[in-house]
Amino acid sequence: MMLTPGRFLPCLLLFMLAATAGLAEQAVAENTDSLKLARRYLDQGKAVEALEITDSLLAKPELPPARQATIMEYYLEALRALDRKGLPPARKALAKALADTAKDAQRRMKIWWHLGVLTYNQGELAEAQGYFEKALENRPPGDVPSQYRLHMSIGATQIQLGNYADATESMLKAEQIHDHAGMPPDNALYQNLSGLFYYLKDWDKAIEYGHKALAITDKDSMEYTWILSDLGIGYRHKNDYKNAYRFLKATVDRAPDDAHSWLNLGYVLLEEERYQEALDALKKAQKLYRERGTTKDLGMANYYIGRALSGLGDLQQAIDYYRQALALYDRQDNPPERLRLYQDLANALEQTGSYAEALAIMKKHQALHEELLSSDAKARIAKLKSLAELEKKKRALAELEQKRALDRQTIERLELQAGHERTLRWFLVGGLVLAGLVMLLLIGMVRLRQRLHRELHTQHRDIEALNRKLRESSIRDPLTGLYNRRYLTQEVEALTTRQERDGANRTHSPALVILADLDRFKQINDTWGHSVGDQVLKAFAETFSHCARKGDIPVRWGGEEFLLFCRNMDIRQGADLCARIQRQLHALEIHADGNTLRITCSFGIAPLPVHPDLPPRWSWTIKLADAALYAAKSAGRDRWVAYALNKIPPWLEDDNLDIPRLLAEEWLQVLETETT
Ligand code: GH3
Ligand code: MG
Ligand code: MG
Repeated sequence: MMLTPGRFLPCLLLFMLAATAGLAEQAVAENTDSLKLARRYLDQGKAVEALEITDSLLAKPELPPARQATIMEYYLEALRALDRKGLPPARKALAKALADTAKDAQRRMKIWWHLGVLTYNQGELAEAQGYFEKALENRPPGDVPSQYRLHMSIGATQIQLGNYADATESMLKAEQIHDHAGMPPDNALYQNLSGLFYYLKDWDKAIEYGHKALAITDKDSMEYTWILSDLGIGYRHKNDYKNAYRFLKATVDRAPDDAHSWLNLGYVLLEEERYQEALDALKKAQKLYRERGTTKDLGMANYYIGRALSGLGDLQQAIDYYRQALALYDRQDNPPERLRLYQDLANALEQTGSYAEALAIMKKHQALHEELLSSDAKARIAKLKSLAELEKKKRALAELEQKRALDRQTIERLELQAGHERTLRWFLVGGLVLAGLVMLLLIGMVRLRQRLHRELHTQHRDIEALNRKLRESSIRDPLTGLYNRRYLTQEVEALTTRQERDGANRTHSPALVILADLDRFKQINDTWGHSVGDQVLKAFAETFSHCARKGDIPVRWGGEEFLLFCRNMDIRQGADLCARIQRQLHALEIHADGNTLRITCSFGIAPLPVHPDLPPRWSWTIKLADAALYAAKSAGRDRWVAYALNKIPPWLEDDNLDIPRLLAEEWLQVLETETT
């Protein structure tokens, strides 16, 4: 196969890639071996060698991050094993980056943890605390021992930072985890807790945990001695001098070079007024402090020696020690101790007769006392001021909050009220609208009823009028407007029925019938025509009814015959009435179709009843009146004739009124127009 330039280049690239990969693999393999070796060194306690390997491996940036994280962990572990304080900044940055990104939780936790310890050793406590907290966050689930130790590390850091409240919480949490998991008693835990309670001046607790620590500590260890010392000091602060003496004595027996224990032992012996023993112990402390050059503690030792000497009665020497202590205190500035020292010095001076100096010292005492008091007071005032300020702010805040709450309540109440009012208003409006609608409906109904009522009333009136008209038309003659025969018949029937019912018990005033018939009327019709005849009939009717009295009933009896029915009228009066009608007719000129006409009329009069002792029988009266009229016609017309029964003929029968016989036998009274 020929290699052309076109094919050669990719082949070369492939070769180069393969070569690189091979090199990388080889590097990883080598590194793996180095890493295993580092681990082995660490396990064997050869931290220097481990550090050397890991340090050189970290210098190779091409390694994968997971590998780098492992190397970093070993590197930090080596640093810790060598008790190094801190690490180079670049390494710290890399460690943090790897701790953030490592896949393995265990790895992440370990890196943070090592970082925390190294930073703690460096004195960067706050930073260290942050790393411990990170380690705690990243701890693999179920890793209770790490959880416990990290809480303790955090607590210890917080103690160092003076953050006792958080420290207590962390330490007690550690104790809780420890006890809950049933871990074996841990000296470190109890010592830490004991130390914490020393800081908190909770001597009982400090002593309690001190005893717990002591119980599980190797008696031959130096640790045991320090716990004894702590317990002695704890009892000293508790003013339990018996126990204080016991533990401090045990401490100095085991550690004769521990100046602090000697000093505390001396103090306890002073309190116990065992001045010689105190003096011996304090001299030992003084010697050790002097060797170490710790002036503050040396000052205290001198002061206590002074007190011991004073107790032993050697005031002059006591004054010397007091003065030395004062010189050291002045430099160290320990006001409360100095104050006590002034007092003891002044007492000693006074007792030795050096009043002037005693006064000068007491003045210093007073000045310092006042200064302390005033600074104390100032501090208290400042504290109270800030507390008062805080309280004021809190109160203002609370008031504001209360006001806001009140405002909110008021607003809510107002909104609620407004809501109610709105609802009420809607109800009112709705109610009003409804009431209005109901009113309108009622008004409409009333109006409708009124209208219907009016219409009904009108209809009723119309019907009434119609009925009246009908009634009138049924009882009146259409041409003349006089009553018709039917009406009169009804009236007379009613009257006669009433009279017949009353019978003989009552005497009835007689009624009268005047029957009128126009003379030769046929001729008028024949001469002037029927319509002129009608006009004549009307004109007569007018005169006829005009002459009648009120209560008389004028009737068109038929054709050109008329009747006037008059209650309470006798035949004489009837004759007068007829004469009056006659006179009127004589004066009457009837104008019709351009002609002037004159008429006369004949009258027949008869009473009802025909005799006062007879019952009112209409047919007899009419028959008698008819006969009278006939007589008037026969006598020459334009006159009246009245017939009535004089006496009642014995032959008179019910249905028969034989007028020719009545006339012949003169049973009739006859009145007639006197002829002139
Ligand atoms: P006498 O004096 O005897 O009563 O003579 P007379 O012509 O009045 O009597 P007759 O009984 O012969 O005639 C009555 C006439 O009255 C006959 C009739 O045509 C006429 N008449 C009846 N009713 C009416 C009417 O309503 N209108 C007119 N124009 N004529 C009537
Ligand atoms: Mg006639
Ligand atoms: Mg006639």
